[in-house]
Amino acid sequence: MTFEAVGTERKGMILQKYSMGIGDRFAHQGKAQLQAIITARSEGVDITPVWNKSHREHTIVHTTPSDVRREADRAVRDLGWTGPYYVDADHVGMKNVDQFLDSSDFFTLDVADFTGKSAGEDDIKAFVDKYKKYVGSLEIPNVPEAFEITPGLIEQIARKYLLAVKEAGGIYRHVVEARGAENFITEVSIDETDDPQTPVEMFFILAAVADEGIPAQTIAPKFTGRFNKGVDYEGDLERFEKEFAEDLAVIAFAVEQFHLPENLKLSVHSGSDKFSIYEPIRRAIRKFDAGAHIKTAGTTWLEELIGLAIAGRDGLDIAREVYSTALGRFDELCGPYATVIDIDRTKLPSPDVVNGWTGEQYAAALRHDPECEAYNPNLRQLLHVGYKVAAEMGGRYTGALEEFEDVIAKNVTENIYDRHLKRIFIGD
Ligand SMILES: [Zn+2]
Repeated sequence: MTFEAVGTERKGMILQKYSMGIGDRFAHQGKAQLQAIITARSEGVDITPVWNKSHREHTIVHTTPSDVRREADRAVRDLGWTGPYYVDADHVGMKNVDQFLDSSDFFTLDVADFTGKSAGEDDIKAFVDKYKKYVGSLEIPNVPEAFEITPGLIEQIARKYLLAVKEAGGIYRHVVEARGAENFITEVSIDETDDPQTPVEMFFILAAVADEGIPAQTIAPKFTGRFNKGVDYEGDLERFEKEFAEDLAVIAFAVEQFHLPENLKLSVHSGSDKFSIYEPIRRAIRKFDAGAHIKTAGTTWLEELIGLAIAGRDGLDIAREVYSTALGRFDELCGPYATVIDIDRTKLPSPDVVNGWTGEQYAAALRHDPECEAYNPNLRQLLHVGYKVAAEMGGRYTGALEEFEDVIAKNVTENIYDRHLKRIFIGD
């Protein structure tokens, strides 16, 4: 099997149509993750793996960006993967990008903190003047109803997002200085904001991205609805599908209007396991013949816990202990994720109950199978944010990952392939 060469000097790195961000807290599941991508390829669907890890995760787990690079390179070598792959400096800003410059070739510029802060009045005025040609009834191909654009609306969007995009430009140029423009892929992320972005906001954000000279190949907006960590999407599915399709149409139009990279596509930061939007996403990308980048994060860590529980012996002991410790440190662990978790504390089993569970019972409570009566989304969310407890176990935890590698790897691969790749990119 051959792949088109990527990273040629003239073209720079070009992200393929379908790609999957595979987060891995403890950097032990690279092979198991890549195996899922290989399975998809054997089904005729090419998906590019992108190993992503944020500064926040590195800090909690005490890993470094070079660990992710090593993990990715090793998995690729061991499994003989000949396709492209990338290492994503996920959610970086000016204050932490430097530590990623050597190891990453994909940079997710997170400027959410700068949204809602206004750029200078001159900049805003210049932006509104430049784009007032879109004032009136803006018809975008493949969007049924025209958008009504007023100068006031453009100004409002500029006030909310222009400073953030300028910040992204600063980070982008900083990475260019260190790596050279041809040697990395750029994503712009604004998903960790309070409000979702409308398709019209997306359009003018992309105008600003083009003005900054950022060759964004993916953009991660905040979509409508709740994206809680580790559990399914909550929100209006019809509205999600409509906005998602409008975003795709807006991107295609913006690429043409603003001369952005032709392969620019949406990046969905899923917070893991947004199963109910996978089918709408699949339908929309088929309909528009669009690409997509889907980022998962904690899914793999939870599969490690499931694998450890099923493996039994000290594996099960560790899984039980992670739960009881996490429960005892509920506020500390949940605090940083308060806006993206909804845990009903009255539905969390006591440590005594969990300590009496078999490995299968533990796995059934944790595994994301909404059809299964034993599945407990409250326990799942707590464990999702409880990876710090495993990190503190240090060698005891990672040693167990190695001891029980086979059973864990099987869970990791099946989870990524069956629950994610298959539903988004392959279908039935
Ligand atoms: Zn994100």
